[in-house]
Amino acid sequence: MTTDPTTEPAASPSTQAKPSLTNLLGMDIDLLKTFFSSIGEKPFRAQQLIKWIHQFGVTDFEQMDNLPKTLRAKLSEIACIEPPKVAHKEFSSDGTRKWVFDVGGSMVETVLIPAEDSKADGRKTLCISSQVGCALDCQFCSTGKQGFARDLTASEIIGQLWVANQSYMQHLPHTERTRTVTNVVMMGMGEPLLNFEPLVASLNLMLSDHAYGMSKRRVTVSTSGIVPKIYELSRRVDVALALSLHAPNDELRDWLVPINKKYPLSELMAAAHDYIDTNERSKKHVTIEYVMLGGVNDTNQHAHELVRLLEGLPCKVNLIPFNPFEFAEFERSPADRIEQFAKIISSDGIVCTTRKTRGDDIDAACGQLAGQVADRTRRAQNWKDKTRGKAPQKPRSNDIFHRS
Ligand code: SAH
Ligand code: SF4
Repeated sequence: MTTDPTTEPAASPSTQAKPSLTNLLGMDIDLLKTFFSSIGEKPFRAQQLIKWIHQFGVTDFEQMDNLPKTLRAKLSEIACIEPPKVAHKEFSSDGTRKWVFDVGGSMVETVLIPAEDSKADGRKTLCISSQVGCALDCQFCSTGKQGFARDLTASEIIGQLWVANQSYMQHLPHTERTRTVTNVVMMGMGEPLLNFEPLVASLNLMLSDHAYGMSKRRVTVSTSGIVPKIYELSRRVDVALALSLHAPNDELRDWLVPINKKYPLSELMAAAHDYIDTNERSKKHVTIEYVMLGGVNDTNQHAHELVRLLEGLPCKVNLIPFNPFEFAEFERSPADRIEQFAKIISSDGIVCTTRKTRGDDIDAACGQLAGQVADRTRRAQNWKDKTRGKAPQKPRSNDIFHRS
């Protein structure tokens, strides 16, 4: 049994009968310092340990030869470094890598997408999950349709990066290992801002020079709009923000992104402005994500409405062609519609890009992850009832993955 202090309460005396190991993988520098102090050790050990875990990829305390032998033995007794279990992995010939993690019976997915562009300087972007399923039930999202099972622990969140990074280096001696993943987007399964403390601990590790040393512009949190947590995020950690907007007015957004009924657009836009104003120099813009749903949110009028809504907000708009999934009731907007929509946005001086669809499987990485959720919600049950007895989905003809 392992514990993760960012999510799990301290064991009560009655549960302490069995020895339990504390998983140190998800602890950021402050949590590790507290851990070392609590066992009577010097806090500076935290830096040393973080380097062993996250840069050298070493999980066996015995190999950590700059720690005193007595400390190594003590750590082996009470702690562990345990990444999530890889149930399945697929590495494609174009460099894309996908992992399915078994997190206690449920599955979550993580995808690494290398930049195609040679000028992108070896960029490798990892799309990370934050929850098993999602409770927010956006109409066009397969994760939402699966229902919510549980939050991931910090070890399970940062563990996705740990595994991806080490996948390039496990054959190397630990002294030669470097940090390979250059960018992270919290755009996998789940709503990151509803799993806040484990998210923050994981982001701290991504940014820490002792761990992954990533630039704050290269770590992006995507949210459907949990307004109070947007305010809190900008005061806790300095990363890039993406807002999943998808509709330019409350009427449409209440339906497409139901959390809008709790946090309507006026409040969301105020939070976005605050995000820019807090720590202005490093947050030059927020990214606005807008999924293109044929005949639903993609007319010229929607585009003009969007321009008005975004007036005065330093932002870039990223149009995401809808990724269909089994029994989805939407269609992707045609290419010429997306082009026209983008033209209207750009003509107002807003940078507007369209996410490339490198085969359905690649875009499936962000927002359409198909992990299996051992769900507990009525909604997920309804979804299963609805789909029961129907023909299984045809395999995608452009499946770019092969089993490793
Ligand atoms: N919960 C967070 C992050 C995960 S979703 C959020 O909603 O922002 C990551 C992105 O994928 C979001 O912008 C989401 O709206 C988008 N997305 C979800 N389902 C999609 C689909 N079927 N096709 C295209 N994008 C989708
Ligand atoms: Fe959850 Fe994001 Fe999917 Fe909405 S789009 S259901 S918030 S994962």
